[in-house]
Amino acid sequence: MKPHSYAHATLKESMRTIARMLGWVRNTDYRLLNEYLLVMQEKEDLDSLLAEVARCLSEMLDYRLFAFVIQDESGVDAWIDPTMFRDAFSRIVQDDLRLDSDKDIRFMGSEDAKAEQVCIAKKDLEVRTFREASFTAHLYLSTGRTLLPYHDDILESLLSGLRVSLINHVRIRRLEGAVSEDFLTGCYNRREFDRQLERHVAGVQRHGKDFAVVLFDLDHFKGINDTFGHPAGDRVLRSVAKAVQHTIRTGDVLCRYGGEEFAILLPETDGMKAADLAERLRVSIQGLCIKDDDNFLISVTASFGVASADSRMSAGDLLVEADAMLYRAKNEGRNRVVLSQD
Ligand code: GH3
Ligand code: MG
Ligand code: MG
Repeated sequence: MKPHSYAHATLKESMRTIARMLGWVRNTDYRLLNEYLLVMQEKEDLDSLLAEVARCLSEMLDYRLFAFVIQDESGVDAWIDPTMFRDAFSRIVQDDLRLDSDKDIRFMGSEDAKAEQVCIAKKDLEVRTFREASFTAHLYLSTGRTLLPYHDDILESLLSGLRVSLINHVRIRRLEGAVSEDFLTGCYNRREFDRQLERHVAGVQRHGKDFAVVLFDLDHFKGINDTFGHPAGDRVLRSVAKAVQHTIRTGDVLCRYGGEEFAILLPETDGMKAADLAERLRVSIQGLCIKDDDNFLISVTASFGVASADSRMSAGDLLVEADAMLYRAKNEGRNRVVLSQD
């Protein structure tokens, strides 16, 4: 054999070996991808689904999932890699989605910062967008190593898997939304109130943020039912809820706590500001112009108890405090606001 044809044969053999190895790597990668897709399908909440997608992207492609934003009729939810600065990213999302304020974004997952926090600019991120009939989702990724040709295929398969899982999650969330709503007034019900209260109190305990709760109860409501009838009473409840909803901010949470009693969760609000808001609500409820079927004016007033959280308080403590203040407002003559003095 001539020397050059020997070299040629060796080269050919090496190429074959590399091709076999690449084939083997590719098969292993596809098997791993399948395992990830199966695990993703089993995730029950969006938070852990996204954590799984982030793991897969990083292990298989050296990609990093920085953030994920989903927008549907109920608002905007965002998941952010815990090592990222939430504030910096909020501004990117606010710009991209043309939101009036970053307060319109609900954050999923914990806010616990890990040691290494990176601040990344929009230009360094690749954005993938899914548009579905009922939602739009955006993934913010950063690319890692140079990709092998079939890596694009892996990325596309992973994103299609995520898309299918998302459609299911949005469907489930809608059903849950129906369960968390009070059917008469359209505000949140007690169940959702308890859930959100726990979440906010945990935030106060961890980060010492301001947070206040307002409880209010309509005065002599039994008299309204007795005089004007139950359907008129229902109309009063709806009008009060609507008036309050108009006055509070987007991030504030109004719930029907039971019967003719309501509760408002006020994130990032101290006791004084919460009492000011309660006073404005008291005046607006007093000024409502609600008519019965015979066009008689139904007057309604409410009494308010306000309590602000500190980092040692549990959700239960905060409610007991607000309830005690409401009780005092009733005892002191009704149609007033009483703020708990720490
Ligand atoms: P107070 O000022 O002490 O709060 O007096 P009150 O009459 O408002 O309180 P009480 O607890 O005696 O009565 C509450 C009434 O609210 C009795 C109940 O029938 C009425 N109520 C509770 N839920 C509803 C509802 O969904 N619709 C109507 N129309 N009435 C309701
Ligand atoms: Mg009452
Ligand atoms: Mg009551």
